[in-house]
Amino acid sequence: MVETPAQVKDVRLFINGDFRDAHSGKTFPDINPATGQVIARVAEADAEDVADAAAAARKAFDDGPWPRLKVAERAAVLRRIAEGILRRKEELARLESMDTGKSLREALEFDMPRVAHNFRFFADFVEQMGSESYPKDDDHLFYVLREPLGVVGLITPWNFPLMLATWKLAPCLAVGNCAILKPAEQTPITASILAEICAEAGLPEGVLNVLPGFGPAAAGEAIVSQPDVDAISFTGETATGRAIMTAAGPSLKRLSFEMGGKSPDIIFEDADLDLALPGALWGIFMNQGEVCLAGPRILVQRSIYDEFVHRFVEAARRIRIGDPLDPDTQMGPLISQEHWKKVSGYVQIGQEEGAQILCGGNKPALPPPLDAGFFFEPTVMVNVDNTCRVWREEIFGPVATITSFETEEEALKLANDTRYGLVGMVWTQDLARAHRVASKIRAGTIWINCFFIRDLRLPFGGYKESGIEREGGTYSVNFFTEQKTVCVALHKGAILPPVFLK
Ligand code: NAD
Repeated sequence: MVETPAQVKDVRLFINGDFRDAHSGKTFPDINPATGQVIARVAEADAEDVADAAAAARKAFDDGPWPRLKVAERAAVLRRIAEGILRRKEELARLESMDTGKSLREALEFDMPRVAHNFRFFADFVEQMGSESYPKDDDHLFYVLREPLGVVGLITPWNFPLMLATWKLAPCLAVGNCAILKPAEQTPITASILAEICAEAGLPEGVLNVLPGFGPAAAGEAIVSQPDVDAISFTGETATGRAIMTAAGPSLKRLSFEMGGKSPDIIFEDADLDLALPGALWGIFMNQGEVCLAGPRILVQRSIYDEFVHRFVEAARRIRIGDPLDPDTQMGPLISQEHWKKVSGYVQIGQEEGAQILCGGNKPALPPPLDAGFFFEPTVMVNVDNTCRVWREEIFGPVATITSFETEEEALKLANDTRYGLVGMVWTQDLARAHRVASKIRAGTIWINCFFIRDLRLPFGGYKESGIEREGGTYSVNFFTEQKTVCVALHKGAILPPVFLK
């Protein structure tokens, strides 16, 4: 039985250390996708609120203590934020689950620990970080200073709301910037609680501003075109990235984009199927398939194709769909009615393209109040090729497409025949082949005989239309800082070329 919240939450804007209503007084409803019920009334930021937030952030950056604190002092605040997150992790996980439809278990066991870790990781990272230095010919010493960039707009999606927001916010703050965070309109609740936690942890006013609202012709676009914002770090759809790049052009903002994907999951005939099968299932059905780095294009070597497809479909049918708050639930609803229509529309497109639906494709029958939710069955399509839209376009739902290949060359050709390049998975026990194929897939992360394992020091991001820039460790720090080269003359004769001294 789905619990309903005791009352609808009020989510307000957070500007200059205060929670407030939007200038316009407008609000919008936030819906629990498992039940269709309104769980929050959310203040809707517009350009006027963005201007206020940008002014507060600019003042905090130009005159406030945050960029001028010692690294260890900033790191201490970040660690207190991490502690605050862990103290409230049950509440945060529950709200994240009700806002997104992801299972409470995933939110509690995966999202929230990682949210806290994002802050701890970057607190440690900036404390231990060095910079380049080159003594040159005994005459000059060169070294690099890293300085905060200024005011940064962070625009984030709904699929891992707090995890992806803090993956940007933690490095952004760690190096001394001020931020305007715009969470996705579908999932604004936890970002607002994060603002409370940050204030309690001692983050000075104006350093973090949180503006729920919409994208085009609304808060998102206003952040991008706001002259007082120096850079934009965005995660979301490739089409949105394109719009942001156009809008940011006139003010020449620094941009970091993490965007869509349609990644290949290649299973060779020598793979350990007891690993590859759950790996591929997890790869497309975790978080309802609403995962940028999902592997919906499953490529299976011809000799094991029939066995793989049979076992994959059997397992997909067994996935338990239901109330995300129930610990036994493996798959919750899609994020919204609109998204449900998009995913369902792709199943129809697949059928028109000649695909065969081996399982799923519909709304599952669930008891009230879940019958009003946006649930979609795990779906498996075969008889697709690389000309089909269902194979080429990002569906962003629990829809797996499977095809076969004969040779390694053919697998690579199919894998790379895409405008995306976020990740790739390879399942084989042949060591040389594993490395060879990993090096030839045009994507930012390759998993060999595993999936979803991350090390936050390493670059994460996409080739081609999946991304611009990288996030993680030094890569995030480089994006969020200005790097200044300093050259010191080590003796008088090294000051200028001799010709000018005569
Ligand atoms: P989206 O692009 O619709 O929205 C993302 C954010 O951008 C939201 O906050 C939205 O309000 C804002 N936005 C929309 N239009 C805007 C505009 N014109 N100007 C400024 N802001 C604007 O994406 P989504 O539907 O929330 O998320 C799903 C997408 O995100 C998928 O394509 C997925 O692959 C991608 N994603 C990528 C990664 C990654 O790391 N590469 C991670 C998660 C999600």
